[in-house]
Amino acid sequence: MKTKFIFITGGVLSSLGKGLTAASVAALLESRGLTTTIQKLDPYINVDPGTMNPFQHGEVFVTDDGAETDLDLGHYERFIQNPMSKNNNYTSGRIYNSVIQKERRGDYLGGTVQVIPHITDEIKSAILSLASDDLDVALIEIGGTVGDIEGLPFLESIRQLKKDLGKENVLYIHLTLVPCIKVAGEFKTKPTQHSVKELRSIGIQPNIIVCRSEDALPDDVCNKIALFCDVDNDAVFSAVDVKSIYELPLELYNQGIDQKILDLLKLKAKNAELGPWKELVKKLKNPQDTVTIAIVGKYVELKEAYKSLHEALLHGGFANNIAVNLEYVNSEEIDDAHVAEKLKGLDGILVPGGFGTRGVEGKITTIKYARENKIPFFGICLGMQCAVIEYARNVAKIADANSAEFETSTENPVIYLMAEWFDPRTSQKECRDTESEKGGTMRLGSYPCTLENDSLAHKAYGKNEIHERHRHRFEFNNKYSEILKENGLLLSGLSPAGDLVEIVEIKDHPWFLGCQFHPEFKSSPMKAHPLFKDFIAAALKNKK
Ligand code: GLN
Repeated sequence: MKTKFIFITGGVLSSLGKGLTAASVAALLESRGLTTTIQKLDPYINVDPGTMNPFQHGEVFVTDDGAETDLDLGHYERFIQNPMSKNNNYTSGRIYNSVIQKERRGDYLGGTVQVIPHITDEIKSAILSLASDDLDVALIEIGGTVGDIEGLPFLESIRQLKKDLGKENVLYIHLTLVPCIKVAGEFKTKPTQHSVKELRSIGIQPNIIVCRSEDALPDDVCNKIALFCDVDNDAVFSAVDVKSIYELPLELYNQGIDQKILDLLKLKAKNAELGPWKELVKKLKNPQDTVTIAIVGKYVELKEAYKSLHEALLHGGFANNIAVNLEYVNSEEIDDAHVAEKLKGLDGILVPGGFGTRGVEGKITTIKYARENKIPFFGICLGMQCAVIEYARNVAKIADANSAEFETSTENPVIYLMAEWFDPRTSQKECRDTESEKGGTMRLGSYPCTLENDSLAHKAYGKNEIHERHRHRFEFNNKYSEILKENGLLLSGLSPAGDLVEIVEIKDHPWFLGCQFHPEFKSSPMKAHPLFKDFIAAALKNKK
């Protein structure tokens, strides 16, 4: 096996940006011609984040293979080439679930099932499942903070792996916070010392320490950390606060982190080719113009709930050489009387995905406003469904049109729970369990979609067939296709068998498009998603 493993732990406090550090390090290794992947191990008990509240946990990121994963996987995909899959995210719940199933099946032959070795073995096999002859380096990010009770089995597993795989194949990076006491003008290393002490008490000696700090750490501070934490003097790096997350790989490269990692892992690689990263940073620091986009949704208090969307809009800006200013507007505060004032001065409006009734009428009012006032509009998943409802009500004059999600007994469910459809991936009928506890199973993961010639979508993608990721229960109701088409709604993207409506547009408008899938999951800074690139271009045109 040629794969080497880098484990990334965090200390002092959470939210230090372990995910971004892992992604940046992986991007640097990739720029040196190595193949990489990143895995997130989350110590919570939920089997996956699919059922978690976005207000608490942020966005649920969806992979091509339909896994509902932690939002850090979105960062990984935006920073490196290798796509993520269900193997890139494990939670304690998923690990325990699998061990308990094995126990029930009798796989342990009557033995006592314990955290060590059964849970730790399960964790190790999840980590080792990444290894292959095509993969040079796997980076494993351990969620949470060192010292958390829940994280212990994961830390014990990665400790054992050094013994199992040999020390040249394993490296530990610890990310900490070095606060600066402004009045004394002093960087404080004590929290880092304590955190490393904690890590060592469970048998892990970090090889590299990355310190989050407001400003770059002076040499003497780095040397002090190296001395107390027993790492090489050139193995302490500062991850300073950067304006844009896309500056981080170059920041770390300038301090030589990639070379240090290669030396420690005894890996040889070509010089880093960072041209695309440099160009990106230059671009984002010198925007030629700015557009302001409103995101009208219900999870506006926690920006993390729209993480990929936020990034994809910025990418759309990079592709047009402009900056994108985002305004989050709570759809519950929008009604006919206030919509104009709430959305004043905006160059484009986006209604994102979501679940449940709250704030829906505000979204529908927003869409009507964007349609009538010819403001570029982009509706995603629930945003597309709301656009269909709005069009049915106000243009096709089906006054009580609604989604069965919001009004179960509606007479005119233009959006409804489709029980079965033709699955182009398997060429078989796929059934949605409409009786399930959660009210219908979700359509999850990547699906093909055929585009109508001469549509906005076709122009944006420049091809006939696309693949995009889904996460929803409800669908466009084909019973209403004819009447909506007669009234000018263009069904510009359909599943290959034609039974699922994936994109709707209207023609007499600068840019109005709704899609049933989540294009934001497939956008990256160097390769903005075509729909976001086009939407931002339309917003710029609208401004002028
Ligand atoms: N609530 C809608 C559905 O389940 C939309 C979901 C979404 O926006 N992701 O179909």
